[in-house]
Amino acid sequence: MNHIQGSLIYEGKAKRVFACENPDRVLIEFKNDATAFNAKKRSLIEGKGRLNCKISAALFQLLELNGIPTHFLELHSETLMVADKISVIPLEVVIRNIATGSLCRETPINQGTILNPPLLDLYYKDDELGDPILTEGRLQLLDIISDIQREEIEQITRSVNKILKEYFDSLDLLLVDFKLEFGTNSSGKLVVADEISPDNCRFWDKKISDSKDRILDKDRFRQDLGGVIDAYQEILKRIENDSFHPG
Ligand code: UDP
Repeated sequence: MNHIQGSLIYEGKAKRVFACENPDRVLIEFKNDATAFNAKKRSLIEGKGRLNCKISAALFQLLELNGIPTHFLELHSETLMVADKISVIPLEVVIRNIATGSLCRETPINQGTILNPPLLDLYYKDDELGDPILTEGRLQLLDIISDIQREEIEQITRSVNKILKEYFDSLDLLLVDFKLEFGTNSSGKLVVADEISPDNCRFWDKKISDSKDRILDKDRFRQDLGGVIDAYQEILKRIENDSFHPG
């Protein structure tokens, strides 16, 4: 298949989206730019784009194998993936298995509390507003999605969590929490979009008890712990050493 890179459609903090010959598809380029705290902290991390692209491609394929619809079609190169062109739903869907991050900053819930059932929250995707958490009432007022779409988004997110949690458990990693984004493709079908990588998931090494040493995700960048690229590389290595790995 030929996917000649066309014009730049959109540039975000960590990705660029290009048009393809086929109008129903796009090419997504994963950049080395790292941002945190609503882009107040910025850096370039050599190799991050390649790692996130490969990790996301593998995880989207794992989800597809488990019947979850995603925008992923194929890898084009080490930093480019071909995906369905979608209409992005402006929601960030966060699901948590273990309490940390904003949940512990904003509530008295202790770090490390096991959340069973996992906690699912919807945030409004808008950098200028700082991606605010949505209440039931605010979600209704904004009228972004229908009740049926909301049910489908929550059900898919819980299924994705179950699949990924079990998968990472088998790689000796705890899936602490993650954020999903959704969109609708040209047939109007709801699909998981964006990326699934250490930029939007938290992973803790099951075999390490030190609360900082065990971190294998973007928290290493957020908290200036160093070893960001080594952590991302470790996630890819465990995926590639696993028998599921498609490549
Ligand atoms: N997350 C994300 N993008 C955001 C906010 C959060 O990908 O804009 C991810 C984050 O990497 C973590 C989960 O969502 O895996 C929960 O993040 P949290 O709300 O704890 O925010 P943080 O502590 O990063 O401010």
